[in-house]
Amino acid sequence: MLVTLLLAGGWPWGCGGAPAADDSQSWAKARAEMVRTQIEARGVKDARVLDAMRTVPRHLFVPADLRSQAYADHPLPIGEGQTISQPYIVGLMSELLGVKPGDKVLEIGTGSGYQAAVLAAMGCEVYTIEIRASLAAEARKRLADLGLETVHVRAGDGYQGWPEAAPFAGIIVTAAPDRIPEPLLEQLAVGGSMVIPVGSFYQQLKVITRTEGGIQERDVIPVRFVPMTGEVERRP
Ligand code: SAH
Repeated sequence: MLVTLLLAGGWPWGCGGAPAADDSQSWAKARAEMVRTQIEARGVKDARVLDAMRTVPRHLFVPADLRSQAYADHPLPIGEGQTISQPYIVGLMSELLGVKPGDKVLEIGTGSGYQAAVLAAMGCEVYTIEIRASLAAEARKRLADLGLETVHVRAGDGYQGWPEAAPFAGIIVTAAPDRIPEPLLEQLAVGGSMVIPVGSFYQQLKVITRTEGGIQERDVIPVRFVPMTGEVERRP
C-alpha cells in the first residue's frame, strides 16, 4: 500500500509553489534533498534510517495547510499544542536506537505518527502510545491508510509503558519527562537502548543502554521537546 502510494500520481505541478498533494515524484525529490542536506550532512549514516526517511511521506503527517513546509529543517505544529519533530531529530534518534529489522520498539508520544512510520519502514514492530486521544486516533488512521500494519497505536499515558509487549529492543520517548520513568527502564531488553530527552525547558537527549552488568547512560545533545504529561508530573 505504501509502495502503491509512492508510485501512483505524478501530476505536473505548474509554476511555483509546493507540489500538489498527489505529486509523488516531487515529494520524493523533496525527501531526497531533506535527507542529503539535513540528515546525512549532519552525520547520520545508518542506511536503514536514511532509506526510511527517503520513503515515508512526511507531508501526509502534517496539517494540509503546512504541507509545503513538511520537508523543511524545523518542527511543525500538529494541533493540540503539539509538534512533529524536526527531520534531523527523527533521523538522529532513529539511528541512536540502534535497532534492526524485526526488533520490537516502544515509542512514547505518537503525535502525528511520523516517527513510528519511520521505525516501521526500517522493519521494526512498533508499539506507540499517545496521551491525547484525538492525536492517537488520527495517527492510527494515517498509519493504517499507508498500510503500515506493524505499528500498534494505543491512546493513554505512556508512563507505565506497554508491559504485555515488553521487553523492547528499543524505547524512544518523544516528549520530555524531568526524569526517566522507572517502568520504561524495566521494559528495556538486555542489549537494548532507550533514547529520551530529559529535563524541563531545555533537555538533554540521552541514550540509556541496558547490559548484563546494569544500566549505562550518555548525553548526546541539548534538545527541546514538548513536556511529557500525566503520571510523571504527579510523582515526587
Ligand atoms: N513522535 C511524534 C512527535 C511527538 S510530540 C511525531 O513523530 O509526530 C510529543 C507527543 O507526546 C505529543 O503528541 C504529546 O501529546 C505526547 N505525550 C506527552 N506526554 C505523554 C505521555 N505521558 N504518554 C504518551 N504521550 C505523551
